[in-house]
Amino acid sequence: LTARLRTQVRRKRYNDQLRASVTQTIEMAVTDGLTGLHNRRYLDSHLETLFDRAVARRRPLSVMITDLDRFKSINDAHGHDGGDDVLREFARRLRKNVRGIDLACRFGGEEFVVVMPDTEGAVAEKVAERIRAEIAQVPFAIGADGKTIEVTVSVGVSSVLKGTDTVASLMKRADLALYEAKSGGRNRVVAKAA
Ligand code: GH3
Ligand code: MG
Ligand code: MG
Repeated sequence: LTARLRTQVRRKRYNDQLRASVTQTIEMAVTDGLTGLHNRRYLDSHLETLFDRAVARRRPLSVMITDLDRFKSINDAHGHDGGDDVLREFARRLRKNVRGIDLACRFGGEEFVVVMPDTEGAVAEKVAERIRAEIAQVPFAIGADGKTIEVTVSVGVSSVLKGTDTVASLMKRADLALYEAKSGGRNRVVAKAA
């Protein structure tokens, strides 16, 4: 009996380890290593579902795309590690300013996307403005010697339109709004009216 128990316990431990390792691998595949936010792959596989659900339930849905301003010059002036510090801190503030049901992702480089279910455009614009202000007002610490720098972000916001709308055109409108925010002088939010 003791021998059997020992074998069973060993087998169970092995299976538990295997399961934990699979779970960890799946999590790593959909998580951005630098910021801990979801990555683009996760966004791509969930946005369609959130969009379809919003349309089916006739509920609003908004998205914002954020892009750090002149990030290349932050890297140039403070090195890639300094840039990475900014990205991590930006992600922390982003996460802090959105709800648990919102989907915040690192879209790539210094661009992030937040999908906000049950959120009208006007509300999403307010959230975006709060994030923009918090980024601009509170300097970012970089490195370990207490150095801080000023960072700004531009944000484009769009919302699902009544009638025929698609994920692609929703994202396209947010991207156009972001482009307007950049060409309008950066450090601003532009929302595409629904
Ligand atoms: P704009 O205000 O027009 O957005 O200017 P920008 O300099 O932010 O725009 P651009 O797209 O030219 O630069 C983005 C830079 O982001 C270029 C790239 O080197 C940097 N970058 C992308 N991914 C990372 C990363 O993971 N870490 C760091 N440190 N830099 C990154
Ligand atoms: Mg960019
Ligand atoms: Mg940029």
